[in-house]
Amino acid sequence: MQLSDLAGNEELKYELSEAMSARSLPHAVIIEGEKGVGKRTLASMLASYAVCTSEGVRPCGVCSGCVKAAKNIHPDIFTADGMNSGELNIESIRRIRSDAYIKPNEAPGKVYILLNCEKMLAAAQNAFLKVLEEPPENVMFIMTALSSANLLQTVRSRSRILTLYPPSVSEAAEVLKKLRPDVSQEIILQSAVDCGGNIGASLELIASGGEEEKKAAEEIFRAIPQTSEYDLMVASGKIAQNRAFAVAVLDRLCGLSSECVRASYGAADAGSTAKELAGKLSRKRLIKLQSTILHARDVLNINVNLNFYSTWLCAVLRSE
Ligand SMILES: [Zn+2]
Repeated sequence: MQLSDLAGNEELKYELSEAMSARSLPHAVIIEGEKGVGKRTLASMLASYAVCTSEGVRPCGVCSGCVKAAKNIHPDIFTADGMNSGELNIESIRRIRSDAYIKPNEAPGKVYILLNCEKMLAAAQNAFLKVLEEPPENVMFIMTALSSANLLQTVRSRSRILTLYPPSVSEAAEVLKKLRPDVSQEIILQSAVDCGGNIGASLELIASGGEEEKKAAEEIFRAIPQTSEYDLMVASGKIAQNRAFAVAVLDRLCGLSSECVRASYGAADAGSTAKELAGKLSRKRLIKLQSTILHARDVLNINVNLNFYSTWLCAVLRSE
């Protein structure tokens, strides 16, 4: 995890990299910003910095400290989440406070990542204040919150506030491409646009959007063996609504048709839908369909009119 892994936020990254090179990061930071904007990504990066043992640029990403931090198994990085009951209540804060004075196990310093700090009650924040006022050496507290305004002024004034903003849509799309190489470019771009560059929200949208496309692909496949053309026309007509959706449905259809071919050969690991659909068509027809669908997916790479395309798709899928 490097500072460059965080998309956008150039000014903040510049400031942090200066502070990191000078080994002068503050002992307490509050990372604020909307849900999905990268608060945890930045918190993990700062934690890696604190446990990195490299003499050069930190975090180096290769020392045992960095490797353990990336796997979430570093004994000197402690994480508590305000969303989990009791993790940031007054008793937990007192435990964190006394633990902070114990020497690190193996790293140059210790890190406490406190997520969703707006869930901390005033009493817990006051208990926390004591350790912020007299911080033990080589300990870093990284808090996250939607807004630092939700924390007591006394806590805020003893911490450095780092505000994160969503990157531009194109920067977000670049990151999403790396995180979800299995998803088409159109879907990635569309989700980045829909979520205003918020990467976390785009990832959620991509994950939830898959169901609709899967359903549409199954409807099309299911309508192929029907005697009447009507169901297939309705099902393939749905992809005319937008290009990203059409591409995603065709991607699903490609996967489904090859799974149906495998099912026709008796593959035990084929899904129940594929097994059921494969039973309705001959193997010869399934194999032909597979290549027809692959070709149809290629055709979508050309900027075709989607209404013509869905009519054409309907015709090629029905031709024996
Ligand atoms: Zn390192």
